[in-house]
Amino acid sequence: MSLSTLDGTLHRGCGGRYALQTETVTMRLSGMAAEVTREFFRCEKCAHDQRTLEQRDAAEKAATEHIRAAHNLLAPKAIRQLRESLGLTLPQFAELIYGTPKGIVDGWEKGKYLQNREADALIRGLADRDTLELRAAKAGVTLPAVELAAAPVASASPAQPAT
Ligand SMILES: [Zn+2]
Repeated sequence: MSLSTLDGTLHRGCGGRYALQTETVTMRLSGMAAEVTREFFRCEKCAHDQRTLEQRDAAEKAATEHIRAAHNLLAPKAIRQLRESLGLTLPQFAELIYGTPKGIVDGWEKGKYLQNREADALIRGLADRDTLELRAAKAGVTLPAVELAAAPVASASPAQPAT
């Protein structure tokens, strides 16, 4: 299934062969934990372990999805949609989440990073107009006029097919 599978390959160090194994581990992300079952390869002769990039990515993705569901955290797409519905740029939006670095916010929107519960609450809070205006005033961010929000610039952001 994967180009990087090591199943049955030779461990040159000892002459043994690697075989696919699974283990259940607790993974921590943004201060939250999830139990995931992840795959790895173990040499049947000397018990040396190898983990491929795909295996690491799959385990991290599974942990992210578990934690997101368990704590009811916003999905990456929902974060981006909220920001776009408010007519805010990434730097503006980041300023309104108490100056979170915009690279981090970008990572949340792309699913590269997982926001913790506090950040999730801050993001959700922006859906409330009063909270939004209060934070914008404090952060010195000029909000787009509400009256114009009825005609969003949809052409600027092509629809992403659901994956
Ligand atoms: Zn070995």
